[in-house]
Parts: sequence; structure tokens; C-alpha cells
Amino acid sequence: MERRGFLQSAALAVFGALSGRDAFAQPAATKSVDELQKNWKLLLAEGFKAPLPTEPLKLSKDEWRKRLDAQQFQVLREEGTERAGTSPLNAEKRAGVYVCAGCDLPVYTSDMKYESGTGWPSFFTTIPGAFAKKTDYKLLLPRTEYHCVRCGGHHGHVFEDGPKPTGQRWCNNGVALKFIPKTGKA
Ligand SMILES: [Zn+2]
Repeated sequence: MERRGFLQSAALAVFGALSGRDAFAQPAATKSVDELQKNWKLLLAEGFKAPLPTEPLKLSKDEWRKRLDAQQFQVLREEGTERAGTSPLNAEKRAGVYVCAGCDLPVYTSDMKYESGTGWPSFFTTIPGAFAKKTDYKLLLPRTEYHCVRCGGHHGHVFEDGPKPTGQRWCNNGVALKFIPKTGKA
């Protein structure tokens, strides 16, 4: 009787572990990065007209000043950095797409976001082709700065201490982003 009870619970434990693993295959975090990048449009709100990375938006400094608020201008056009912990997007958890605040180009989906604990919205990958990188030497050590391919706006820096599977941490200024929830208005 005892032995039978033991076998039953052992069988249940194995079954539990297997079904547990199946359940883990579902959440977005375990979808492959390829899949997240390929299917990013599934998170785009209906009716949102996303511009293409191949349609450049070139404006003069004065035109940018008019289009952006002071903080957005400072980050996007002057490569500034917002104070950590100030962006409401740190706490944003809804499904949707993050677009460039300068030109509306989709740059990340909600499935690419994670909590890095840094006080800046952080992502482990991007929508393909959204950003171009360059090395910046403002601090003593070189850092990889990235900017929007459509409008050239500065967004943040990418580091190699992110989570698996990419190991990347795209540390983005919240003011450089606009969040478009999949349902409802931004
Ligand atoms: Zn842009």
C-alpha cells in the first residue's frame, strides 16, 4: 500500500513536471526571438498607420523643436538621457507596440520588454531594422549608442548584460518612445 502510494505520487510528480513544461512553452517570454521579430505586427493596434523604415523623415532643428516637447527634443535630437525611474513606460505591461516618439516608426513590441531594474524601459531585442548603432565615447569606456533609422533620433544604448536568449539589454529613454496599446487608444 505504501509502495503503491509512493509510485502514484512519483507518477504524478513526473506528469506535473511534464505538463508544467508544456505550460511554460506558451508565454511570450519563451517564444523564439525570431518568432517575436517576424510576428511583431500581430501586436499593432488596428488602424495604426505605421511608417516604413525606408521612408526617411528629415527635419531641421527648428522643425524638430516645434514637433517635440523640450524633453523629447533633448533626448532624441541632442542625445540627452532622462533621469532614471521617471518614465511611466517603466511600468507599462499592456500588449502593444512601442514607436519612436519622433517619427512613429515601430521599434519594439511589448513581448520584447523586460524589467531590468535600471529605471529605464528595457528590451532584449528590437523590431528588425528599426535602429542603427554607433560607438559613443562620452564616458571613458566606449558604449554602443543606437538611433532610429527613420528620423535619426537618439534612443539609448545597448549593453551585453541582458537576459537569455539574446543577452542584450536595449536601455531606452522612455521619452523617446510612444506606446500604442493593441486595443484602445494610446
Ligand atoms: Zn524616429
